[in-house]
Amino acid sequence: MQDLNDLYQEVILDHNRRPRNFGPLPDATQSAKGHNPLCGDRLTLSLKVEADRITGISFEGSGCAISKSSASLMTDAVKGMTLDEAITLFDRFHLMVTTPIDEPIDKDAEAAVGKLAVLAGVREFPARVKCASLPWHTLKAAITNAPEPAKTE
Ligand code: ZN
Repeated sequence: MQDLNDLYQEVILDHNRRPRNFGPLPDATQSAKGHNPLCGDRLTLSLKVEADRITGISFEGSGCAISKSSASLMTDAVKGMTLDEAITLFDRFHLMVTTPIDEPIDKDAEAAVGKLAVLAGVREFPARVKCASLPWHTLKAAITNAPEPAKTE
C-alpha cells in the first residue's frame, strides 16, 4: 500500500511541476473563475465547446500542488468529452473525494474516474478536498455559463 501511495504522490507532483493544458485559450467559448479562500487557490478555466463537446480546455492561476495537479488531471480527462459526460465525471469524482476515509469508495465511481483516482488520498485531509474539488466546481460553472445566443442580424 505504501508503494501505491508513493506512486500517487509522484503523479500529483509531476502534474504540479508540469501542468497540462496550462495557459490561455484564445478561441475559448466560455470560462469561469474559481477561488478557494481556505487555501488561497485561484484559477480561471477556459473551454472551447463545439456541438456540446469540449474540444479545447485550459486553466490559468495559482494554487497549491493539489489544486494545480487536480486541474491538470481534470483538463486532460475531460478534453474531448461531451458536456454530459464531463458532468457525470464531475459527480463521480466528487463522490470519490467526499467518501469518508473509513468507507470503501464506490467501485463504479472509482472505475469511472480512472487516473483521477490518484487524488483519492485527499480524503485523509478534509481541507484538501476543497483544493482537489475547486477545478471541478469551476468546470461546472464554465459549462453552465453558456455563451450569449448568436445574433441573427
Ligand atoms: Zn489548495
